[in-house]
Amino acid sequence: MKGYRDLSQLVTLAALAKKDGRRPKDSDLSIINDGAVVWDNDKIVWTGPTASIPKEYSNIDWSSLSGHTLTPEIVDSHTHLIFGGDRSKEYSMRLGGADYQEIANAGGGILYTTKATNNSTRDQLFKSAAQRIERIASYGIGTIEIKSGYGLNLEKEIECTEIIHDLKLHFAKRVNIFNTFMAAHAVPKAFTNADHYLDEVVFPALEKLTKKDIVDAADIFHEKGYFDSAATERFFKFCKNLEVPIKSHADEFNDNKGAILAAKYQALSTDHLLCTQADGFEALAASDTVATLLPGTGFFLGKPQANARDLIDSGAKLAIASDFNPGSCHCDNLLMIASLSAPTLRMSLSEIWGAITLNAAHALNLKDQGSIEVGKKPRFSLFKVGQIDQITYSWGRNFAIMKKS
Ligand SMILES: [Zn+2]
Repeated sequence: MKGYRDLSQLVTLAALAKKDGRRPKDSDLSIINDGAVVWDNDKIVWTGPTASIPKEYSNIDWSSLSGHTLTPEIVDSHTHLIFGGDRSKEYSMRLGGADYQEIANAGGGILYTTKATNNSTRDQLFKSAAQRIERIASYGIGTIEIKSGYGLNLEKEIECTEIIHDLKLHFAKRVNIFNTFMAAHAVPKAFTNADHYLDEVVFPALEKLTKKDIVDAADIFHEKGYFDSAATERFFKFCKNLEVPIKSHADEFNDNKGAILAAKYQALSTDHLLCTQADGFEALAASDTVATLLPGTGFFLGKPQANARDLIDSGAKLAIASDFNPGSCHCDNLLMIASLSAPTLRMSLSEIWGAITLNAAHALNLKDQGSIEVGKKPRFSLFKVGQIDQITYSWGRNFAIMKKS
């Protein structure tokens, strides 16, 4: 058995977990000052003030952590961190006024990354992704979702998903990797339409990978010109038949009623939601589907943000993720994105922390973490600060204590 004691603050989020992550209030942070936590292998067995530690735990493997704050583990539930190439020049083009379409026409955008990814070896993709994971872990982020989706052909999409699985095994002791299959990221020009691509690449690849049992969820870019509502619904039905949990990129450029469709098919999460309207908020509030906002993308592209306030107030479960990717958000630091976005999205401290821990875990179907309570997994983030407010107050500064392997 192991334990942390003398923690300046133990932020358990126990009250928020009881509310299923909905409508957080500041008291839902459930802070224990001078707190302690005890765990036995994979389960928390006790939490409380250090002064009240029961005698039966007096001789366990304790670490005394005064001056530190412990929170539920930070989860980045939306990244595209496996890719080849470098798109910094495209960024300069965009600052010069070029839009998404102009960049695509000039050979940039997702199709550039697809080419660079296809030209990268398995070893190169593994190594570059592993470096990115190391850096993300250094911020105190312990669970990371990774999507495939830059192969865009049968062989490379299968290979990228296998590499994500290799990364999962490689980092197993320190970082929990969640493997999302996202061949349905864009429709390559070689295919006549979305259905053609679904039939030739997405469905056969997913079938093969499901047999290997390495896919944790499947995702789709639900948008006009990519995968419209009919194609997205076909994809959802196909995944349901294979019993693969689903996620979607929805309502980013238009209100395609993507949030409503995701909720109808019990998606784990639906992400972006920049154009979602009140009917979408209502559908999410009545569902278990997590509404995941990606404010780093809005910042990086200079676009407006999603309506976090109405989403939270409607009762939806709201998460925030980085969307780390080579094109629209080349920032891997979720905690900084969350700090920066709090005033813009008008989110409180408890709403921000719920969005990057408990609700982000729910977006990955991880119901046994996200709060520090008896029976849950001992998945924590540890910071060298005396109180939780200081972490996001000093935005961009890294207070995390790295996990030992
Ligand atoms: Zn994305």
